[in-house]
Amino acid sequence: MNPAQLESLHRELATVLPGDAILHRREDVLPYGFDGTAAVKQSPQLVVLPRTAQEVSAVLKIAARHQVPVVARGSGTGLSGGSVPVPHGIVLCLAWMDRILELDAQNLTLLAEAGAVTQKIFERADAAGLFYPPDPGSMKVSSIGGNVAENAGGLRGLKYGVTRNYVLGLEVVLADGEICWLGNKCVKDVAGYNLRDLFIGSEGTLGVVTKVLLRLLPKPAARRTLLATFASMEAAAESVSRIIAAKIVPCTLEFLDRKTINCVEAFAHVGLPRDAAALLLIETDGHPVAVEEEATLIEAICRAALATQVTRAATLAESVRLATARRSAFSALARLRPTTILEDVTVPRSELASMIREVEAVAARHQVEIATFGHFGDGNLHPTILTDERDAAEMHRVEAAICDIVRAALARGGTISGEHGVGLAKKRFLREQLGDANYRLLRTLKRALDPTGLLNPGKIFDLREPDRHG
Ligand SMILES: Cc1cc2nc3c(=O)[nH]c(=O)nc-3n(C[C@H](O)[C@H](O)[C@H](O)COP(=O)(O)OP(=O)(O)OC[C@H]3O[C@@H](n4cnc5c(N)ncnc54)[C@H](O)[C@@H]3O)c2cc1C
Repeated sequence: MNPAQLESLHRELATVLPGDAILHRREDVLPYGFDGTAAVKQSPQLVVLPRTAQEVSAVLKIAARHQVPVVARGSGTGLSGGSVPVPHGIVLCLAWMDRILELDAQNLTLLAEAGAVTQKIFERADAAGLFYPPDPGSMKVSSIGGNVAENAGGLRGLKYGVTRNYVLGLEVVLADGEICWLGNKCVKDVAGYNLRDLFIGSEGTLGVVTKVLLRLLPKPAARRTLLATFASMEAAAESVSRIIAAKIVPCTLEFLDRKTINCVEAFAHVGLPRDAAALLLIETDGHPVAVEEEATLIEAICRAALATQVTRAATLAESVRLATARRSAFSALARLRPTTILEDVTVPRSELASMIREVEAVAARHQVEIATFGHFGDGNLHPTILTDERDAAEMHRVEAAICDIVRAALARGGTISGEHGVGLAKKRFLREQLGDANYRLLRTLKRALDPTGLLNPGKIFDLREPDRHG
């Protein structure tokens, strides 16, 4: 955008937004130039902070008139570059639309604005004796709109599923500024195509989510936390297989590898054995009697699968201490090197142990430092690459390692992303996973909903690439 175009756009935006809701000074827009993804940044020219869906709509109408791209942004914790600005574009940040509007105890629903922080939603439900299960590791900061746009998962995914499983309705502003409601409070609804689901996981490329209607559950009456360590990842994998075969579905079934265990212990001092090759954090919840039975069985299964140590929390404080081992994994690893790249691939659960071994082989082959942790129950692993983005030669090796990890996941019937989305980080692999027909269909939907390609262009795929026909 040249200065004259920028000024004309700014002037027009100022007719629909109060002055404090438009940022344009370099020092003010700088914090909106990146998200949680390493090595991708782009300074925006303008940032707008609307307070209502009507203001969002007015911004999109002006952007469409000026043919200026718009990147929706929640809290900027994304790990695939989704909210990184595009050149000559506006950042539309939902952070000021953060109210929880209604908790409907009769219908077990909660209505929130898109910028509401995930943790606040959990707490509001909890205070009413209800439960909002999706718990991404970033939940203290991430927005519910960002969770919807990425279809975020969390530690409770195995039993409770991901964000999509709790979205009943969405208010969305379309590319031309029209505001529409998708979904409702009904438990059942099969009227027409399910457009609501189309927007979940669309990474800001189809519309801007302004309100989210969520389904809540009754709060589980009891919870038990166990932590087991093993001398090999295979023994941990064997425990997981036996737990599932015993028809127990824990709400949390997380793992750390040896490197992560050591980093966490150095960081959080939770008493983990530093010589362990694998750690499982297991939580079961539900009726107190069932929870006790399951915890006893899980403990026996882990011991039979040669766990070196099994700790069962007796109190809530003890549970929190054990869960710290997993919850602090990212922060513990992030201390080691200047740049931390949190990768995200998923394989069928049966392939997880072999995939973890492959990640170790990739690290050795490319001489990069990788620690792995993740959601064992979901087959979702986060190989975490500890590096320095200022070192071009090392970053070259890191890039090669990421390609090998993603391809190894695909070769095992896996996916390039289990929860962080495609954004910029994974878009070069998407066609490979989906195949030509599926990939073409995605782009056809994008063109139908955003014909001039103004919403988060260049994310997920590049519309300028030609379509391929099989
Ligand atoms: C330490 C750490 C731990 C994490 N743990 C997890 C985890 O356990 N599980 C998980 O799934 N993710 C995790 N993440 C990734 C990230 O937090 C999630 O993707 C989260 O959903 C992003 O929310 P956000 O509000 O920060 O969105 P942003 O980063 O601001 O945006 C993410 C994407 O959503 C789009 N978007 C945002 N708001 C809207 C809106 N209102 N309408 C339309 N599009 C919108 C943006 O354009 C962008 O494409 C983690 C990140 C960090 C840094």
